[in-house]
Amino acid sequence: MTAAAFRHLYVHIPFCRHKCGYCDFNAYAGMDRLMPEYVAALEQELSNAVRHHAFDPLETLYLGGGTPSLLPAGLMADLLAFIRSTFEIRSDAEVTLEANPGSTDAERLAAWLEGGVNRLSLGVQGFDGRALAVLERRTDAAQAEKAFALARAAGVTNINIDLIYAVPFQSRQSWLETLQRGIALGPDHISTYCLTFEEGTLLWRRRAEGRVPEVDPDLQWDQLDAACRELEAAGFERYEVSNWARHGRESRHNLAYWRCRPVFGAGAGAHSYWSDGITARRWWNVARPREFIAAMDKVAGSEDLDERKARAESIMLGLRTAEGMTAPLGFESELKRLAADGLIERVDGRVVPTRRGMDLHNQIALAVL
Ligand code: SF4
Repeated sequence: MTAAAFRHLYVHIPFCRHKCGYCDFNAYAGMDRLMPEYVAALEQELSNAVRHHAFDPLETLYLGGGTPSLLPAGLMADLLAFIRSTFEIRSDAEVTLEANPGSTDAERLAAWLEGGVNRLSLGVQGFDGRALAVLERRTDAAQAEKAFALARAAGVTNINIDLIYAVPFQSRQSWLETLQRGIALGPDHISTYCLTFEEGTLLWRRRAEGRVPEVDPDLQWDQLDAACRELEAAGFERYEVSNWARHGRESRHNLAYWRCRPVFGAGAGAHSYWSDGITARRWWNVARPREFIAAMDKVAGSEDLDERKARAESIMLGLRTAEGMTAPLGFESELKRLAADGLIERVDGRVVPTRRGMDLHNQIALAVL
């Protein structure tokens, strides 16, 4: 077994039915006709990857996007079968697929399960019509609830839902109701994201034009606080800044990122990360689907991280998680200051973030990067 072989695979599916107003992911609407060619290019990239890189049996596979659930059932079945025939996958591997409620149906669910998917991440985002309208989501609460019920009925035992707070016009009460409706579905994992206005998105332009108001920072903190209270009372543990899970249902794939484990990323714009435990390197693919299809093996960019930078990143990422990390070498003065500010503490020989450190994680990141 090679210490630095890849055990985690990310596969990017960039297609979406429509581009949501807040989204700055590498996602495209109106390109569905490229799907077959795109999957063929992905398969070519994956074939090349196993020839050029060392892989151990995969511990996690994550199909993210974009909207992976948009792929027709047959095409996704082919892709999953191809991955299973190309990589060795551990019998206890976590295999996640990101799905939007609008494209989660019985036929697709059957194909996903048949292909080995055992975890679904449902892009619910909210239940309140006004917040969903601001986000320009095209799915509503009824669709989200139906998709969740369908997935459970099909036999998906591990389901995450994503929820977004700090949305303009979203009151504390409407966020509270969103949390309660999310919890009532009975998911195993909940991700709560604070809305950010990314430059170049429609929502960013709307705010710049004064058509969407700023969110009051006090309300944002209140909403985060409400999430902590409601989710903990419902039995979820906050194991990362934005992620809550029932015990044992933490996302093993995302933990691999926060633990700085090598992750191979395939598909348009996908990033790969490799580390030998001292230095590290990341590289990424061309972003646009058409360019990716034409040059699936072209590295669009790369970055080498020297020992200090690799360590700073591992501290910044490790301190996003409740498990924290073994006391890192170096950065003593920064860590001392963070401890004095009440952002981190030592527990059983590990350095972990406090609740305040999780809430103000950007201060930890600023101190070490
Ligand atoms: S569905 Fe997700 S990836 Fe696609 S545009 Fe909306 S937010 Fe972006």
